[in-house]
Amino acid sequence: MSRSQPNIKDSSLFRLKFWGVRGSYPTVDAATLGVGGNTSCVEVKVDGRRLIFDAGTGIIPLGKELCNGATSPPAAYVFLSHTHIDHVLGLCFFEPLLTAAARTFIFGPGATHGALTRSLRHLTNSHLFPVSLDELKGKKEIFSLTGGEIIRFGSPGRRPKIEKARTVSGPDGEELVVTTCKSAAHPLNGVMLYRVHYKNKSFVYATDIEQQEGGYPEVIEFARGADLLIHDAQYLPEEYFSRTKARKGWGHSTIDMAVDVARKAEVKRLVLFHHEPTHDDKTMKEIEKQTKALFHSTVVAREGMEISLL
Ligand SMILES: [Zn+2]
Ligand SMILES: [Zn+2]
Repeated sequence: MSRSQPNIKDSSLFRLKFWGVRGSYPTVDAATLGVGGNTSCVEVKVDGRRLIFDAGTGIIPLGKELCNGATSPPAAYVFLSHTHIDHVLGLCFFEPLLTAAARTFIFGPGATHGALTRSLRHLTNSHLFPVSLDELKGKKEIFSLTGGEIIRFGSPGRRPKIEKARTVSGPDGEELVVTTCKSAAHPLNGVMLYRVHYKNKSFVYATDIEQQEGGYPEVIEFARGADLLIHDAQYLPEEYFSRTKARKGWGHSTIDMAVDVARKAEVKRLVLFHHEPTHDDKTMKEIEKQTKALFHSTVVAREGMEISLL
């Protein structure tokens, strides 16, 4: 097995791959394609499983890779930060949901049992899409989360167990677990943040969050000591505070806010994510350079980029 095609069953594998890094809407402008045009989707190969964070358009090529050449029916665990269109746009084209033997477990914010299912059914309203969510052939189970959960995994392909967590940051240990934190800092219904723990390493997925001055204490605590923080960094400060078109209140952070949280939470590495669609490759390169000067271990998320945590 080559390094570029790791064996998913390898228990020493904890590797992230970015399939979609763009915020708000996909881009097709050639000047943006070095960084990538697909909307949010991050795949994590860990402990014999594939966890997927958000179902933006990046999930479409990922789903094809999952099904093409699979020797057994694939199982995927999809964690939605929220159901804004840029985070679910690829869901109805996610190959496992169209493939009879495949299984998909979908998690995301929902105040009551069944709330997430009801939100996702809007996607396949007959005016928007010709096939209903329930008619898609793949097996699926949908779980509403309210925040403060700890999700444990049995053998690959089995239904995970959801419990209420005792601590905000979750356990340090060998076992694969996902912990959750609900933040109100995204209009109108808030956003779910996730932290994945495995073999004493962890990363935090925190997109679509607009930090307050000094950062939200509960978010800083949730990210405390993580090996990697993926954080919304959609705007330049001059865009956020623009006199003619201020983005304050739109639900996204500036580069400076992401750096501030990374520093206060004492994370080891920062990945800037959910890029403004109008920021071309040249701008993103400049953003990376400027951010590295503030927080050395920073990288701009790019489509196809992989990071190993073990
Ligand atoms: Zn978004
Ligand atoms: Zn959003």
